[in-house]
Amino acid sequence: MNNREVFVTVDPSAGFCFGVERAVIMAEDALDHDHPVYCLGEMVHNDEELKRLQRIGLQHVDRKEYNKLSGQTVLFRAHGEPPESYAHAARHKLNIIDASCPIVKKVQQRIKASYEEGAFIMIYGKPDHPEVIGLNGQTGHQALVVESAETLNLESIPEEICLYSQTTQSLQGFHKLVEALKRAGKKVDVNHTICRHVSNRFPQVKAFCEQFDKVVFVGGRRSSNAQSLYETAREVNLNTWFVSSPEEVNMNWFKPGDRIGITGATSTPPWLLSEVAEKIHQHFSQHH
Ligand code: SF4
Repeated sequence: MNNREVFVTVDPSAGFCFGVERAVIMAEDALDHDHPVYCLGEMVHNDEELKRLQRIGLQHVDRKEYNKLSGQTVLFRAHGEPPESYAHAARHKLNIIDASCPIVKKVQQRIKASYEEGAFIMIYGKPDHPEVIGLNGQTGHQALVVESAETLNLESIPEEICLYSQTTQSLQGFHKLVEALKRAGKKVDVNHTICRHVSNRFPQVKAFCEQFDKVVFVGGRRSSNAQSLYETAREVNLNTWFVSSPEEVNMNWFKPGDRIGITGATSTPPWLLSEVAEKIHQHFSQHH
């Protein structure tokens, strides 16, 4: 060791959430036995992990391409699918590997049960998000999807509402929506379905980032979870940079003696966090 080194620590709580990790393992297992394996939609919101899965043989198809498949092996990712996807699979003899996260599946079942009891279903989420499409599919796509309390059109909704949430939405936003509905005199059956694997990450990221001089946040640019966790990291540590791959790390951000923390989103693979840490560590041990 020399006194020109930096001290790099990977966040022990970072890496895939339980549902994504399970889906990736299921894909790897399937690829060991069966080729080709198709995945309906992107497996995970992380380009580096997508490239790795493609290299080992996973082929991504969109919904249009999926509807043309017949007799193939197809993986349903952690986000879950609406009933139409299962119906198509049955009609076209597709071999389905269902990697829908069990937590999402449970929310789907609860929404279906409430809908069948005649409730007016509201889903707090992003209308075009694949998980929301799967959730709304349980109501025949009859639920009202609301993105925020600010976009709520109170006149168009009935007096009694059964509210669910996309699992990756913010807890704060959910509470705001409940408050806005109650203030307007609506009777709300509140179903808190935000996944704790996501909500726990916010306090964890804060506690981790506070401890370091500099932080590198590793995540996919199209991942909304990565964007909001990055903002959380910056709230407690202004010296935080966002990168999606080791190549984007700029060594000028650091100086010898810095204590550097590496963290990421629930869609960031653990190997990518290690590669970023290793690159920084190597740079400083070689150049100083
Ligand atoms: S965030 Fe939660 S619900 Fe969504 S895939 Fe991960 S573990 Fe499952």
